[in-house]
Amino acid sequence: MKPSVVAIKQQEIFKFNARAKSIPGAVNMTVGEPNFHTPEHIKQAAIRAIENNHTHYTVPEGNHELLSAVANYLHDKYDLNYDPKTQIVATTGVTEGVFSAFNAILQDGDEVLIPSPAFTIYGPDADFNGAAPVYLDTSKTNFKVTPEMLAEAIRTNPRIKIFLLNFPSNPTGVSYTGAELEALANVLRKHDIFVISDEIYSELTYNFKHVSFGNILPEQTILMNGLSKSHAMTGWRFGVVCGPAAVISQINKIHELATTSITSITQYAALEAYTNGYDDPAIMREQYQSRRDALYEGLKEMGFDCPTPDGAFYLFAKIPEGFEQDDVKFANELLEEEHLAILPGSFFGIGGEGHLRFSYAASMENIAKCLSKLSLFLKNHKN
Ligand code: PLP
Repeated sequence: MKPSVVAIKQQEIFKFNARAKSIPGAVNMTVGEPNFHTPEHIKQAAIRAIENNHTHYTVPEGNHELLSAVANYLHDKYDLNYDPKTQIVATTGVTEGVFSAFNAILQDGDEVLIPSPAFTIYGPDADFNGAAPVYLDTSKTNFKVTPEMLAEAIRTNPRIKIFLLNFPSNPTGVSYTGAELEALANVLRKHDIFVISDEIYSELTYNFKHVSFGNILPEQTILMNGLSKSHAMTGWRFGVVCGPAAVISQINKIHELATTSITSITQYAALEAYTNGYDDPAIMREQYQSRRDALYEGLKEMGFDCPTPDGAFYLFAKIPEGFEQDDVKFANELLEEEHLAILPGSFFGIGGEGHLRFSYAASMENIAKCLSKLSLFLKNHKN
């Protein structure tokens, strides 16, 4: 099995980060996880779970009290209606959810349609499950897929079995309105294609309320969500996969083979998050929004062009004309000269060339430092 181009890019991200970390005092704007700690009430629930000896195997899909809490939360937040008995599996993060879903659905020679630039796991996940990733360059359409592009891609790639949709997006921060999602659904409902909708950043939206694709096209949607970003719980490894009962049952079989179940203690922490943690994301969202505004305004003043950052904690900015357009070279020089780490856009695949991905899961102090370092770098490199 050969790793795809995107798999190689993922290794490049690790290498770039390792270099940034080896420079004392470097300002790091590459981080893809919240710089908050897990809320105290969730940590306490996990401690209680250990003390009460909830430390044994569970059923593969996750404790049913937890799955009911997930169903209620998704209903209350996004108006979704999933039966906790048959339509939800708790997975080891969305990372395992995507892999298990691909494994359950794909046959050798199938294709997975991935809007690009994209989060780095989707391409390799397709590869490793015997399918070919088909990348859809979104750089000319504000980093969004249009219904026309989608229809054309399906027409020219008849073996597409999965359309991977991720919004708000890593790496671009763009999201879709309900009307835009409806237009995509109108194309998809004519085809035998599953939509894997990775909505891990659904709680971090700034410009409009998040609408889930699970509401728009429930019969064909496999929804991925979790607590990594909304509740600052990346290390707990918790995700949920929701969808039509028949496909969820298949995904649960793969999940059981690979994991038996997710960690029992994490399940108790997640139960607390989904029961009493409805307001936790708002506190973080407010801070992300101020950081986003500061970074966006600062970058615009320097001449960076950037799609409207609707959500998540990323900005994807075009390097201004008149400066080095090779994003990898630009980012490497920036790291060497100014000790500022920002990821090259091309690490996220086709369409990312000439861009930089900023993460604002960073303190205001580091955002200010980032802007002044970048401004100095531009001054020194003006042609
Ligand atoms: N999906 C996207 C778009 C992400 O950006 C990330 C993490 O950065 C993940 C999934 C991974 O989520 P999890 O921690 O639930 O595995």
